[in-house]
Amino acid sequence: MRILIVDDNPVNLDLLRTTLNKLKELPISLSFATNGEQAIKIALQSPPDLILLDVMMPGINGFQVCQELRKSYSLDSMPIIFVTAKIEDVQLGFDHGGNDYITKPINTCEVLSRVRHHLKIAVLTKKLEESNEGLERRVRERTAELAVTNRQLREEIKERRYMQDRLHYLASHDFITHLYNRNALDGHVTEFIEKVQLESEFGAFLEVDLNHFRLVNETCGCFAGDELLRQFAELTVAHLNANDFFARLGGDKFAIVCPRRTEQQGKNLALQVDQQVRSFNFIWDERVFPISASIAIVGIDKEILSFDHLLLLADEVLYFARKQKINILSYKQLVLDNASRRENANWAIRLIDAIENNNLRVYYQKIVPLGDTKKKDQGYKIEVLVRMFDPKSNKIIFPDEFIPSAERFNLISKIDMWMIASTLKHLSSVDSFENDVHSVAINLSAISIKEDGIADYIKSTIEGCGINPSKICFELTETEAIGNLSIAKDFMQELHDFGCSFALDDFGTGFSSFEYLRELPFDYVKIDGVFVKDMHKNSSHYAMVKSIVDISKQLDKEVVAEFVENQDIVSALEALGVDWAQGYFFHKPEPIEKISNK
Ligand code: C2E
Ligand code: CA
Ligand code: CA
Repeated sequence: MRILIVDDNPVNLDLLRTTLNKLKELPISLSFATNGEQAIKIALQSPPDLILLDVMMPGINGFQVCQELRKSYSLDSMPIIFVTAKIEDVQLGFDHGGNDYITKPINTCEVLSRVRHHLKIAVLTKKLEESNEGLERRVRERTAELAVTNRQLREEIKERRYMQDRLHYLASHDFITHLYNRNALDGHVTEFIEKVQLESEFGAFLEVDLNHFRLVNETCGCFAGDELLRQFAELTVAHLNANDFFARLGGDKFAIVCPRRTEQQGKNLALQVDQQVRSFNFIWDERVFPISASIAIVGIDKEILSFDHLLLLADEVLYFARKQKINILSYKQLVLDNASRRENANWAIRLIDAIENNNLRVYYQKIVPLGDTKKKDQGYKIEVLVRMFDPKSNKIIFPDEFIPSAERFNLISKIDMWMIASTLKHLSSVDSFENDVHSVAINLSAISIKEDGIADYIKSTIEGCGINPSKICFELTETEAIGNLSIAKDFMQELHDFGCSFALDDFGTGFSSFEYLRELPFDYVKIDGVFVKDMHKNSSHYAMVKSIVDISKQLDKEVVAEFVENQDIVSALEALGVDWAQGYFFHKPEPIEKISNK
């Protein structure tokens, strides 16, 4: 602590010095001034922590010195103690900005205690100042840190928002054409249909199918195919309104939802798109591909119940457009065209209805052993056949009527799986099945075997009902198996390894090369009924049956003949060595419930 002592009398100065040197508890340094001017100069140059100031001095007196210093220093920052002999100076001293006073003649105790008191205050004030400064510095540092953190946070939020947007974009867009994808279309149409149901909206739906996409893809590769899709998308966008919703459904199929357009207005748009597609040639590697499109238009009105419903109708319209070889067809036109087509157009809905309302039925037909096979006494086989019950007419509908539609609308695998589950469920409840029935044959469409995970589904269904897999035979038509050779092979192999057997159905109509057949793990050949049913009077059909039997025997396969309608045929088949026979002569298909625990 620095103390400045101001006095014109050297004796007083000396006395004060001696006195203050007794202050042991604080390290102090003393400086001295012998007149007012000198005191002001020293105090301003290096401000002391305390001043002992004589009042009576020649020149500027103590009060004036104090007044001068107070212009720069407050009471707290520079304490001043007057040293005076006159009692009236005490009040004047306070008035001039003094903090305290010491009386003359100097009393050591008084000096020490007053000085000690003011030094303590000075020390505390200093500490407070320092800690204030520290605090302020920390606040400043923290504020700066916070600003940095804030900025980082803002950046992170921005980045996160960007990623969310990007993710949302990727999830709802097709990455080749950058149009909306099927998912987004589903959401959009579902919302739109809700509004339509509330009568606040109406619109038209266009499904566009590019016709030469596969050709481009197969001859020039998928880069060319992608480019064709992109160019088509770009060209089409030019014809759309701002609130039309344009999506790629997948493959070469596109869809456009046009709010506030009637079916007729939708058709006008279809005409523009068709026109544009036809005047456009796709060029790749100097090759020119003329492009065309089939376009279906469906009005979105209160009749439309869901996105799937809308797509089914559009697919149906497209199917007929292609069949009639026209580019543009609307649903209304299709329905109006003729009543029988309207019937057909309803198949998809009727099938879904039948599947959901349990209106499918399992029928079965016996397949009986012939000749030597009969002697083995291994019971009879059965084939299960699907039927559809129509509650309106109370009639049973035969599969030939609905299976082509079921295949077209991709509903056939649902039917096949339903047949497997229902058949096995029923048979597992029949005690005599294990002993009396050699095996059950179940038809499978080629479309079903292409479904992902179908083999696993079938295996777990079989395991679930506790039936031995060797009791189950699947029938695939010869043409379908050959047409999907590698898929059929993998599928058959997997279930064959599991214990099931396979029959090639309708054999002879496709008459494939036997080289192909060698690749497939099948056990039975089922001769197509058309050759069997008149083989006793049609020599070329008889010859056909004979050669199929011969080759099958060479390949070590058992032979089944279907459409066996009379005894003459039975005799002919036995003579040729056919193993099994199926037909009205033995048994007409009837509900599977007839096989029961009697
Ligand atoms: P398919 O597999 O060739 O079945 C034999 C068809 O011939 C059955 O017709 C059967 O009722 C009929 N049939 C049996 N014996 C005779 C006979 O002596 N004379 C004549 N003229 N016909 C006879 P259905 O039940 O109408 O089935 C027709 C076709 O539908 C089947 O031909 C099969 O391809 C398909 N199908 C039936 N059920 C299913 C199924 O669950 N899934 C699949 N994918 N297709 C099935
Ligand atoms: Ca069959
Ligand atoms: Ca058949």
